[in-house]
Amino acid sequence: MQVIRLEALSDNYIFLLHDSKHNIAAVVDPAEAEPVLEKLAELKADLVAIFNTHHHNDHVGGNKQLIEQFPQVRVYGGAEDRGRIPGQQVFLQQGDRVEFADRIAEVVFVPGHTRAHIAYYFPPEQAGFGDLFCGDTLFSGGCGRLFEGTPTQMVDSLSKLRSLPDDTRVWCAHEYTLKNLQFALTVDGDNADLKKRYDEVKAYRSRKEATIPSLLGVEKRTNPFLRWEQPSLQSAAKSSDPVQTFARIRGMKDRF
Ligand code: ZN
Ligand code: FE
Repeated sequence: MQVIRLEALSDNYIFLLHDSKHNIAAVVDPAEAEPVLEKLAELKADLVAIFNTHHHNDHVGGNKQLIEQFPQVRVYGGAEDRGRIPGQQVFLQQGDRVEFADRIAEVVFVPGHTRAHIAYYFPPEQAGFGDLFCGDTLFSGGCGRLFEGTPTQMVDSLSKLRSLPDDTRVWCAHEYTLKNLQFALTVDGDNADLKKRYDEVKAYRSRKEATIPSLLGVEKRTNPFLRWEQPSLQSAAKSSDPVQTFARIRGMKDRF
């Protein structure tokens, strides 16, 4: 399975999963249909699945048109998103498994950004990297805003993602890394890994290169929204409580 990153809207990424052996494809969070249709035409591949992480329009905006072009496509989303994802046929819960080509993804229920948000985790083949498609829950250097969930829920959701192996590619849905790390430095400025990462990302973005996927191991060391028990973050949040630390850091980011 090859992951092809497509740019969409102003700062979204759509991920096309391509199985060249069977020449079939699946798409994660098609914000819009055009970039997907173009790539499918180029590959001459058949679209068999749409994997949605949550109902926001910048993640499902292409569903309708893709279903029209590929009537056989199966549309997957969270069980709690019933009625909110165009064309949804499969209603997924924590621990469910979904197949694509020769890979099987585990569904992780990650409410917080929305109440129904799910992520898709493909464990590694043999010794390679795993692949995590986490929508707007975990971002590279940040996390999604809490539109429909509580800090407790989001900490629980991010804990699930944080428990995955370091060698997991994080395919999040937006190019927000630079801005996220600018904020991260304001709350975790003595973190040497973070400073190094910021310099690297700045260089990447000055060349207009994508910073996605990132690696979960790097996120664990540098993302303030995975580090609620670190003394540096707790002191920035003026709290010794992990959830309160997370909530206050999230609040600071909302106003950044
Ligand atoms: Zn969203
Ligand atoms: Fe989004």
